[in-house]
Amino acid sequence: MSGFLQRLLPSALRTAIRDRVLAGDVVLCPICERGAIAYLPSGSPPRPHVLCPFCGSRERARMTWLFLKERKLLRPGIRILHVAPETCLREKLKALPDVAYVAGDKHEPGYTYPEGTIDLDITKIQFPADHFDLILCSHVLEHVPDDAAAMRELHRVLAPGGTAILMVPVDMRNARTEEDLLITDPKERLRRYGQFDHVRLYGRDYMERLQRAGFTVIEDAMTERMEPEAVFKAGLLRSEVVHAGTK
Ligand SMILES: [Zn+2]
Repeated sequence: MSGFLQRLLPSALRTAIRDRVLAGDVVLCPICERGAIAYLPSGSPPRPHVLCPFCGSRERARMTWLFLKERKLLRPGIRILHVAPETCLREKLKALPDVAYVAGDKHEPGYTYPEGTIDLDITKIQFPADHFDLILCSHVLEHVPDDAAAMRELHRVLAPGGTAILMVPVDMRNARTEEDLLITDPKERLRRYGQFDHVRLYGRDYMERLQRAGFTVIEDAMTERMEPEAVFKAGLLRSEVVHAGTK
């Protein structure tokens, strides 16, 4: 047997076994449209009901996909900018008819990025104004020290009539965003903002910040208008809200 086949077989076999064991109709992933007996636990500490066993999607990606479909934002021929791309969404977006798809991430030394992912600083985006019909940039802004500059840049490259999905962790109990850019100790950031590499924890003023950058803000608590069973099947978080901006 060739080395190629030896390498291939175990993984193909693993996939076949996984598909047999986990296929079911308890949950139905909106992204890969496959039914499973459960979403798998993930995170640290692990939370139940998170990971699609087939496409690897998590709650946020599934909610984003439902939002895009519901609002009919996935038209043929659109120009998409996907920042810090989630693999499951990337594959679906790239497969849209006649799409011009750009994936970008801030390239950091020591990390590798999927082929075709351009080096992108969202405070200085290398594309002309009004260039993209759809931007996905979720859970990025809480890592960026000058988030106002990033928001202005995302607004600049968004085409009139376009939509930018801009989800971040928001603590709705706080009126104001908590941030102190002098705090750089990962432990202190974890304690204050919930993650070692976040530079702030947004409060209810997140929407105003987006408005200041020029966006018309959409705040959509999708799960509130869905049946509980549909929320469960799609594996969505009740606490999660879609934040998006239009131009
Ligand atoms: Zn899936």
